[in-house]
Amino acid sequence: MSAESEKLKNHVTELEEKVARQNQAIGSYRDQLIKVTEHKSERDLYSELASVFARETSVDSVYAKTIDALSQHFKIRYAGVFLLDAKNDEFAFCYGKGYNAGALPPVPYIGSFMGQCLFKREILWEPAFAKRPRCVQLNQDPQEQNVVCAPLILLGNEAGVVRCANLDTAGIDKVKPVLRTVTQLLVSTLERLMLQSRNEWTLRSLDTSFSIARLLENTIDKKEILSRVCAEVPRLLGCAGCMLAMKDPAGALVPVARWPDGFELAGNQSSGAIYLRNLVEAFPAGNALIPDVHRDDRRWSWPDPKVRSLCMAPIRQRDALHGVLIAVGTANETFDHAHEDLLGIVASQASVTLERASYFLKQEDQARLDGLTGLYNRRMFQEMLAEEMARVKRYSHSLSLMMMDIDHFKKCNDTFGHPVGDEVIRMVARSTKSLIRATDHAFRYGGEEFAVLLPETASGNGHVLAERLRAQIESDRSVRGVTTTVSCGITGVLPNDSPDSFVKRSDAALYTAKESGRNRVVIM
Ligand code: GH3
Ligand code: MG
Ligand code: MG
Repeated sequence: MSAESEKLKNHVTELEEKVARQNQAIGSYRDQLIKVTEHKSERDLYSELASVFARETSVDSVYAKTIDALSQHFKIRYAGVFLLDAKNDEFAFCYGKGYNAGALPPVPYIGSFMGQCLFKREILWEPAFAKRPRCVQLNQDPQEQNVVCAPLILLGNEAGVVRCANLDTAGIDKVKPVLRTVTQLLVSTLERLMLQSRNEWTLRSLDTSFSIARLLENTIDKKEILSRVCAEVPRLLGCAGCMLAMKDPAGALVPVARWPDGFELAGNQSSGAIYLRNLVEAFPAGNALIPDVHRDDRRWSWPDPKVRSLCMAPIRQRDALHGVLIAVGTANETFDHAHEDLLGIVASQASVTLERASYFLKQEDQARLDGLTGLYNRRMFQEMLAEEMARVKRYSHSLSLMMMDIDHFKKCNDTFGHPVGDEVIRMVARSTKSLIRATDHAFRYGGEEFAVLLPETASGNGHVLAERLRAQIESDRSVRGVTTTVSCGITGVLPNDSPDSFVKRSDAALYTAKESGRNRVVIM
């Protein structure tokens, strides 16, 4: 028996040990299985999110998919993304499950749980949220008992938080690592989208810069510059309308170009003008970005219902505001800083081109016009005389030349002084300009000597004009009541005339007018 029982006992022990080993194996297998299962469901979550994110191009949709996935995975009632406003003052609801989006109270950065999470840049867990001092309850029904927040730091900047509430508190240790991984996935996707759009905008800015430069390189005509810029903005920004307003001599901003034609910032022309004035009063530097004019606190007059976004950039010359460029987007176009930057590039290119145009025109005027009277100068007389005489030769047209000199002008200067003399010279120039035709050319030939070229005019008609001019000047007492008289010589071109002989004959006629008593016209 003893040998038999000894054998059985050993067998039982052996079996028991086997069972124990087996149990152990099963236990570890079960543990492993549990681990694998849990791991598998998380892995599925990550790989699904990663593959979804890889295809995403919209930031809003990335947020939405993150929250949907988290709330499904943890089977939680509340999950949402809250983003910090531009001034880092408050969190705004972006997307969430369970929250009543329309009725959420503002959550301040300072003192709030979300703010604390973002400030510390770590996941924070509050098991007794409702008991927290100054806690902002986002939902009352049921009250949020516990809250976990994960920070969103985008390209180094505090952006917002992912916030979940009313979790199964026993599982918080499991929630944290999942939340960490999911927010990491979310952040890297958002950063990719941000960088992509930055690249896109950088390329667009470069393109804008080039295309505006090309567009404007061949023109110094201000009107042309303004209308080209205005028509180009909607193409570059992809927006609905554009307006360019420039300061008038009194300093008021007046629309000078619009695209499309007749485009107004608000309602009709007069409310559009009020809107423009208020806009520039509110943004005196000329820069503005209003993503939604209907939600802006500063809406002064009613904006056009079709208008949504508004962006404004200054046209400056030597640091002074000369005008503004305004782009407007409709319902589904929301402008952001990238649009503002782009419009800024266009406006500064336009500023430079306008300044260059003014400079050219000024230079050109200085080279062609007499500073005192605004008439053409003597250099232009030589050029235009040669041109007109060439035309006469080619087409056998008539051409007359009048020379005019103020009588006893030395006496005028001596009696009333040089400044009054200057005014008399200006008065004579004004009278001349007022009587001649647009096709005639008047010149200040010397100190108080004038020349007028009269194309298509025979000397007889020239004589009539000269006589009328002489009489008008004589009757003009606008300069300190002084009477001014002039002597004129007029002559028509002859077939064999050179510019020199033509001028000499006209001069001789003037000399005769002086010799025979002044204040008269002599035709030769
Ligand atoms: P006459 O009737 O013979 O033409 O007599 P006059 O005194 O006008 O004689 P003249 O044409 O020789 O004199 C021209 C004077 O005009 C001399 C000069 O001091 C003056 N003068 C020339 N340019 C200017 C100017 O830009 N401003 C002023 N105030 N005087 C000028
Ligand atoms: Mg003279
Ligand atoms: Mg004179």
